[in-house]
Amino acid sequence: MKSEKELTLDAVLEIIKKRDPDQKEFLQAAKEVLQWIIPFAKSSDKYNSYALFERLIEPERIIQFRVPWVTDDGVSMTNRGYRIQFNSALGPYKGGLRFHPEVNLSILKFLAFEQTFKNSLTGLPLGGGKGGSDFNPKGRSDSEIMRFCQSFMTELYRHIGPDTDIPAGDIGVGAAEIGYLFGQYKRLTSSFNGVLTGKGLSFGGSQLRPEATGYGLLYFVEEMMNTAGDEIKDAAVIISGSGNVAQYSCQKAIELGMKVLTMSDSDGYIVVKDGITEEQLEQIMELKNENKGRIKECTDLFECEFHEGTPWSVEAEVALPCATQNELDEDHAKTLVENGLKYLAEGANMPCTDKAVAYFMENDIRFVPGKASNAGGVSVSGLEMTQNAMRLSWDSDRVDDELRQIMHRIHEQCTTYGKSDDGDDDVINYEKGAAIAGFIKVADAMIAQGSV
Ligand code: NDP
Repeated sequence: MKSEKELTLDAVLEIIKKRDPDQKEFLQAAKEVLQWIIPFAKSSDKYNSYALFERLIEPERIIQFRVPWVTDDGVSMTNRGYRIQFNSALGPYKGGLRFHPEVNLSILKFLAFEQTFKNSLTGLPLGGGKGGSDFNPKGRSDSEIMRFCQSFMTELYRHIGPDTDIPAGDIGVGAAEIGYLFGQYKRLTSSFNGVLTGKGLSFGGSQLRPEATGYGLLYFVEEMMNTAGDEIKDAAVIISGSGNVAQYSCQKAIELGMKVLTMSDSDGYIVVKDGITEEQLEQIMELKNENKGRIKECTDLFECEFHEGTPWSVEAEVALPCATQNELDEDHAKTLVENGLKYLAEGANMPCTDKAVAYFMENDIRFVPGKASNAGGVSVSGLEMTQNAMRLSWDSDRVDDELRQIMHRIHEQCTTYGKSDDGDDDVINYEKGAAIAGFIKVADAMIAQGSV
């Protein structure tokens, strides 16, 4: 592909800065990936093209719409809905929906961009997308959430489909919301198909989809620790968040014999000195999922301490940030390293700031970006699509087996492309490996499909 301009990191970042100067999360995510793939692309005739990167950072389509709904008290509300269809080179757009008051175009573009590389790493035929709304589900009744979801889908349905774009859950969108969205899609289109993943088991959902992101994260951590010659059993781990990803990360970590010291929410974190037990985790899940409670209420349920802020001052060998973007900054990174951290794998998307990541790298912490370590969720979503298309339902052993294999292959790709420049096998740069491995498949497909 001929380019008018020379390919450099600055030249590509300049496009984003000029076009969307206020999209700081998108710029951060793009920089994180491009810093590794542009030097790689420049060393190859095939990918050394400014035009290719100009296309890679521009979403194929952005849909923005009004979502009107009515509260239980009869008050009219209006939120904003979005769907970013970022890249369909490898398959139909695939990525979650986020309902959170902070949702904006910058956050959704960063998530959709990341998703494109993540989906490529899974080896499944999935393009990248993301969507959501600035609707805040906290404190809303079930019927308000249902009416909101129905209104959201009343616009979204015309842009999605099982071969076009297949949304799933994310922050604020769990099984209940997916059920309401699916019900409305079915009503509007008179079709029952796999247009959403994360569905209930009784209407086309896959075994282990709720568990998949957390389980996949721990399979990855186990593989990384084994590769470095460490045992996962008995290792101390701190987890942030107490939602879907955090809960199932905690569950698998306990199963693998780790000592889980913390969980959190936006109010603060709990510390359980001897490690969270299975029974305590069950209580946390009931508190958060059924009673919509806060993590500090755990102090009424079992012996633990509650502190405001983030859990990054607690000593541990492994850290798994599983809450939200930019929840761990450079100061947190310094404290973690001082306290003996060896491994950090992102359960959330981009939970570490760029300065925190740089600090981990400088200090030889094995750091894994979310696009590799949290890809288990979208992987099982991909398996849900396969089961829906075949009108079959696999048992949980089969799904778990597939998930383990996918996480193993992602680890393998990271180690292949994440070797240090001097070929030293002991030092794996997971960030570089994940970015380059994800990029190659997407770029090959884009080039093969022509420059339209
Ligand atoms: P949930 O809504 O189930 O849980 C989110 C958790 O993060 C809650 O504990 C929430 O606490 C906390 N949180 C949210 N915003 C903040 C904030 N600003 N500061 C501190 N804590 C916060 O979401 P998920 O577990 O599904 O998603 C968590 C992360 O994992 C996201 O980054 C998501 O994109 C990513 N992810 C999710 C996948 C999935 O399959 N669900 C797949 C891959 C990635 P509170 O209740 O106080 O808001």
